[in-house]
Amino acid sequence: MDFAFSAEQDEFRVQLREFVRGLLPDGWRGLFGSNSEEMIPITRAVCEALAERGWLARAWPSEYGGGDGDLWTEMVLREEMWAAGEPRGPQYMNLNYIGPMIMRFGTEEQKRTHLPPMAAGKVIWTQGFSEPGAGSDLASLSTRAVRQGDEYVVTGQKIWNSYANSPADWCMLLVRTGPTEPKHAGISILLVDMRSPGITVRPIRSMAGMGEINEIFFEDVHVPAANLLGKENAGWPAITFGLSFERTGIAMHARAGAMLEQLVDHARETVADGEPLMARNDVRRAIARAYCDYRAARLISYRITSMVESGQDPVAESSMAWVHGATVVQKAARAGVAVAGASGAILEDEPGAPMQGRIEREWVEMLPMTIAGGTSDIQRSIVARHGLGLPKAG
Ligand SMILES: Cc1cc2nc3c(=O)[nH]c(=O)nc-3n(C[C@H](O)[C@H](O)[C@H](O)COP(=O)(O)OP(=O)(O)OC[C@H]3O[C@@H](n4cnc5c(N)ncnc54)[C@H](O)[C@@H]3O)c2cc1C
Repeated sequence: MDFAFSAEQDEFRVQLREFVRGLLPDGWRGLFGSNSEEMIPITRAVCEALAERGWLARAWPSEYGGGDGDLWTEMVLREEMWAAGEPRGPQYMNLNYIGPMIMRFGTEEQKRTHLPPMAAGKVIWTQGFSEPGAGSDLASLSTRAVRQGDEYVVTGQKIWNSYANSPADWCMLLVRTGPTEPKHAGISILLVDMRSPGITVRPIRSMAGMGEINEIFFEDVHVPAANLLGKENAGWPAITFGLSFERTGIAMHARAGAMLEQLVDHARETVADGEPLMARNDVRRAIARAYCDYRAARLISYRITSMVESGQDPVAESSMAWVHGATVVQKAARAGVAVAGASGAILEDEPGAPMQGRIEREWVEMLPMTIAGGTSDIQRSIVARHGLGLPKAG
């Protein structure tokens, strides 16, 4: 199987890289490293500029604002975005899985309401899945939605919600509508306007970056019943569909590739004890080891793209891609530490920080990827069940 990109796709990559570089300010630190007050306006401008060129939702159907493009060109876009620190900001979630969930499970009215603003780069969504008592065991979520006439009334709490304070315009919210049903069979999905009365967002400062994660509190929030995505109590299949798109949508390997490229330049240009770092075997080995893993992760992602293209459902593969992607970005950072030694720990604004402090940033910012989107333990359990056919653990 040949995963080579076409000349046209290669050309698109070059154009896109140049275009995005021209939009980003000096000192752009990427999605996780930037102060959200500065980052969000930049990402909005990038999304709108990409949308104007027809690049933002290139693979979506034109009836919803997309460009009817192919999945491989979309892969080029995802790779270039992650390699550049994801300048689409929070809106990458719209393109990767929130939009596709609405496209697959939404009513025609929901599609017409929500997809065109996403394709135009004009709306921020947050994902309201996890709760203090429901993370890995997502199906035990307890935020309640009670039907009253043509509305649902929602009460409860979500946590770890990326970009809820950006501020997010909308939330894809998982709620319990069937309190007496078995836990997987009592969950529904609501599309909630974040400006509804009764919603409070509290940011949580963390190593994942300023403004990255938040708590959301819902106190008697009234949501129109027309905002139910899919059928009541039948949310679980849509959730697993969405999670699998979430896990495959981020081209984490591309971030590792970009880091390794920069590390190679650094090792070539930096002279220590009279010779370039790159002349040392331990340095060459550290970079080569991380490079092998990066290339393997890239292949898993390409394999998934080819499965989706042929109409297959990559359940185990998307978990494999996620756990492997999280591992390779961390390994690329570790290779940086191996090459730079103690100076790799220097913060960017200190004199002597190698690669403008990228090693330290990469090391810290990529650690939460072991947890986000479902922990690596959970991904491996999915691979065991759906890839190897092993029984569910007791
Ligand atoms: C940066 C970041 C962004 C996030 N963004 C969002 C978001 O936008 N929206 C959202 O809803 N959530 C988000 N999350 C939450 C994320 O999905 C959860 O943190 C994750 O699913 C784990 O849940 P938990 O933190 O409750 O850990 P727990 O489920 O309490 O797990 C604790 C530990 O126990 C292990 N464990 C638990 N159960 C098992 C098991 N059955 N087998 C083996 N090991 C197990 C886990 O692997 C982990 O090591 C985000 C998290 C991070 C770090």
